[in-house]
Amino acid sequence: TLTGKTALITGSTSGIGLAYAKALAGEGANVVINGFGDATAIEAERVALEQASGAKALYSGHDLTKTDEIEAMMKQAADAFGGVDILINNAGVQHVAPIEEFPVDKWNLIIALNLNSAFHTSRLAVPYMKQKKWGRIIQTASAHSLTASPFKSAYVTAKHGLAGLTKTIALETATFGITANCISPGYVWTPLVEGQIPDTMKARNMTREQVMNDVLLASQPTKQFVTVEQVAATALFLCSDAAANITGANISVDGGWTAQ
Ligand code: NAD
Repeated sequence: TLTGKTALITGSTSGIGLAYAKALAGEGANVVINGFGDATAIEAERVALEQASGAKALYSGHDLTKTDEIEAMMKQAADAFGGVDILINNAGVQHVAPIEEFPVDKWNLIIALNLNSAFHTSRLAVPYMKQKKWGRIIQTASAHSLTASPFKSAYVTAKHGLAGLTKTIALETATFGITANCISPGYVWTPLVEGQIPDTMKARNMTREQVMNDVLLASQPTKQFVTVEQVAATALFLCSDAAANITGANISVDGGWTAQ
């Protein structure tokens, strides 16, 4: 049980992030959810999380591409709960284009959100975790933290960077009861994956079916999309006492992709 613990999950109004929030709330944790979307739908999710946990759920609409907004989100969590025991850096976006056409603003956005935001949340969360002598930092990295695909230069760079950051944090916090790990999914069926199909169709001159079978699931030996619940269950395990000696690891949940 995670009763009495507080979890902050970035990018949790949708997809994998929302599944983490549901899983952690299901174990009784307070949760701070973050991300964009329809205000009414987000409020309904927030209320459902409180009902599931019997604890508190807060919403932060902060834009994590901006350092001052990350600081404001972490302050919101600290003001409400004292600090964050479980930090899940999950917010991320994708852009698919050949390097010579890759829009500079998309590069900057992806590095800011998928990589820099995890540095900022971690530097702000670690003091409280050190003081409590307990903490869990979990990154949603990606199979693209271990291997590359064409046309995803910014994303692959950010995720490889996240893997390095995580190992460094793990070493610095190892004697404080804190663990830092990456979960690296393959293709998970979420709005992010659905959204990149049109650009991949354009970049590779393929139909929707060809992108699904020959690009996305081509790299996944199980020929199945990973589910958000399977990713969330891995995070729950990392939060347990059984996982107290798993730190600095990069755990693949990728249907065998990176075994190839
Ligand atoms: P998603 O698009 O469903 O969710 C992304 C979340 O990030 C949303 O809540 C969105 O509102 C939020 N967000 C976007 N921009 C933001 C910003 N500037 N500030 C704060 N929040 C912002 O995507 P998902 O597929 O659930 O992806 C979640 C994470 O998992 C990402 O880091 C992604 O790289 C990673 N991942 C996804 C897959 C996959 O196949 N879906 C595979 C490997 C890794």
